[in-house]
Amino acid sequence: AVPLEITGLGKRYAGSTDRYAVRDLSFRVERGQVLGLLGPNGAGKTTTLRMLMGLITPDAGEIRVFGHAIRPGAPVLSRVGAFVEGPGFLPHLSGRANLELYWQATGRPAEEAHLDEALEIAGLGDALERAVRTYSQGMRQRLAIAQAMLGLPDLLILDEPTNGLDPPQIREMRNVMVRYAEGGRTVIVSSHLLAEVEQTCTHLVVMDRGRLVTAGPVAEITGSG
Ligand code: ADP
Ligand code: ADP
Repeated sequence: AVPLEITGLGKRYAGSTDRYAVRDLSFRVERGQVLGLLGPNGAGKTTTLRMLMGLITPDAGEIRVFGHAIRPGAPVLSRVGAFVEGPGFLPHLSGRANLELYWQATGRPAEEAHLDEALEIAGLGDALERAVRTYSQGMRQRLAIAQAMLGLPDLLILDEPTNGLDPPQIREMRNVMVRYAEGGRTVIVSSHLLAEVEQTCTHLVVMDRGRLVTAGPVAEITGSG
């Protein structure tokens, strides 16, 4: 089954009378792709990602993740990991200890947590033994990504992971995504900046005002390559 298939997806928030946050959205993501969900603020990226994480209910359409229909309240597939926004870490504990606590809270078996591999892909190096309060913003964000990667999910969903980062930290974050996809895993990452996704992603879905503008391989869309 393909990692993600979205068909005719629609969402209108309660209270918003005329406007659909997402309207008639269809696309699919194949194994090993790094898909960039690109669009200006308000395009519907976060709404789309929240629907495919099962956090909010679509008003129309269907989402299939590895062949399973996604419904809110249904258990989150262990094959999916998600970064939404920097979670609150306990500042006096090390990065490693924070991730260990997080994993215990998920209730999943300890041997399914690939702590060292996730931290290595996230590029945290020796910092993982230091208290999180000594981390830069970029390091905290990469720790949050390491947390989403802990179970080495086949599909990793990242909502604006470079928000608030400076250019060197953005480069580092790009490397993290590329390294993660190298194992044949699939990544979906949202951004409002083409420059951020064109070097990292293999494919793009461009959205504006809730609708799909264009989708395809990056080189086709940017006219490069
Ligand atoms: P993006 O992530 O691309 O910035 P969003 O999915 O956050 O876009 O928002 C799409 C549209 O839906 C925007 O017009 C936004 O204001 C609206 N919206 C987002 N969340 C809510 C909400 N909880 N209630 C009402 N409207 C919302
Ligand atoms: P993003 O672009 O990442 O979605 P936003 O600043 O648009 O971030 O949204 C921040 C929060 O506010 C989200 O929880 C979103 O659902 C909510 N939100 C956004 N637009 C609206 C809106 N028009 N009405 C109510 N809540 C909204």
